[in-house]
Amino acid sequence: MFPEIKGMNEECGIFAIWEHPEAAQLTYYGLHSLQHRGQEGAGIVTSDGEELHVHKNTGLLTEAFQAGDLDRLPGRQALGHVRYATAGKGGYDNVQPLHFKSEDGSLAMAHNGNLVNYQGLKSELERTGSIFQTTTDTEILAHLMKRQASDQLREQLKGALPELVGAYSFAVMTEDELIVALDPHGLRPLSLGRLGNAYAVASETCAFDLIGAEYVRDVEPGEMLIFNRDGVFSERFMGTKERALCSMEYVYLARPDSNLEQINVHTARKRLGKRLAIEADVDADVVTGVPDSSISAAIGFAEQAKLPYELGLIKNRYVGRTFIQPSQALREQGVKMKLSAVRGVVEGKRVVMVDDSIVRGTTSQRIVQLLKDAGAAEVHVRISAPPIIRPCFYGIDTSTSDELIAANYTTEQMREKMGADSLRFLSVDGLKAGIGRDASQPNCGQCLGCFTGQYPTAIPNEKNALVGSGKG
Ligand code: AMP
Ligand code: SF4
Repeated sequence: MFPEIKGMNEECGIFAIWEHPEAAQLTYYGLHSLQHRGQEGAGIVTSDGEELHVHKNTGLLTEAFQAGDLDRLPGRQALGHVRYATAGKGGYDNVQPLHFKSEDGSLAMAHNGNLVNYQGLKSELERTGSIFQTTTDTEILAHLMKRQASDQLREQLKGALPELVGAYSFAVMTEDELIVALDPHGLRPLSLGRLGNAYAVASETCAFDLIGAEYVRDVEPGEMLIFNRDGVFSERFMGTKERALCSMEYVYLARPDSNLEQINVHTARKRLGKRLAIEADVDADVVTGVPDSSISAAIGFAEQAKLPYELGLIKNRYVGRTFIQPSQALREQGVKMKLSAVRGVVEGKRVVMVDDSIVRGTTSQRIVQLLKDAGAAEVHVRISAPPIIRPCFYGIDTSTSDELIAANYTTEQMREKMGADSLRFLSVDGLKAGIGRDASQPNCGQCLGCFTGQYPTAIPNEKNALVGSGKG
């Protein structure tokens, strides 16, 4: 059984603007389109060249920012963040960007991902005199940077980043410089865009579309992009290791209108649905998807199976994600509030219900019940990803092994628990082929850790020391 990592789950979205007169405003819009990546806190830091200006708060972007707040964020460079945290890990102190002041000036910092050697590094830093202001793993980088001999931001990062193990896209900003960096496996997405003479950096390309920026390219694993008054520069802080972009970004997390390394997320999901229909065909009357993240896969399934795609489930727009509710009882309640079955569509029908993933099993179980209560004759559950059998150490909240239903039950036991007429998952090969990344790379250049137990980096053992995972 793998150990639980406490206190540092981060999904999160990053957005930054360099050299635009409406930097704060654009960052606000950019963060708005990244809101699905985190709803627990939002913040923007700007620089007017002299000092940093900060506004951040807990909650959704629209809660964290009130009328007039953006007017108090002057300057042509901005860095923003939306934060996801699981229960008990929220609070104002952990809302990003983090902001540090010292005699040499100020530093703002935003992070998407999760450091797996967080605890070891933190203990060592505390033992040698560091005092932490937050409980996020993000702050580690600031302390490591401060211990470098150089006072140059880029040199500090070059010294500090290689000490980190795990998933990170970082953006750091001083009064006159912005630097973004991506971990050497490229576990999280990070893209560069352009808006006239200004540059934008975002966790997902959907943020560029909203502000009218054009996509330039993705940040490379192990690369830093440096923006300062002399221009824009690319430097490496580490060589690229085995490429391992998170598969769950395609499956569930990213927005369908984003492109991850030039693969459109909706199109990839549709292909996953098609593969699933090939691998796990069934006699049925209609196909329905679980809104919103599974609609694309359900459309693909229906197209391949030559079955009608119908709106068998409707989402109540004004309820948050089920995951954010802390207890199992509340989560179950949440699913009920969130979705309704459309009786006119499913009554008397053999329904294929496509969902993108099963984590704890709560959602599927509730939905099978909803469909049956609405008169479905049969419910066949089809999942457009393989069973999640291991936790994620890189910032996607897929829970601990104890709570992962597929880590503890066979497919047949799961089917029985959820009361479905059949249950099938996509294979790992189907996942790789469906996403459609570079087949010449190991694992097609994607992380499959939670599906296979083969993680791209070392992972912590019970004592939070790092152990090799076979591919380190
Ligand atoms: P569960 O009910 O625990 O089995 O969760 C599965 C549902 O949660 C699916 O409908 C997914 O769309 C969604 N999901 C999958 N991964 C995540 C995640 N990391 N955070 C929030 N929701 C997720
Ligand atoms: Fe993504 Fe799973 Fe890898 Fe985590 S372990 S980064 S969720 S593919």
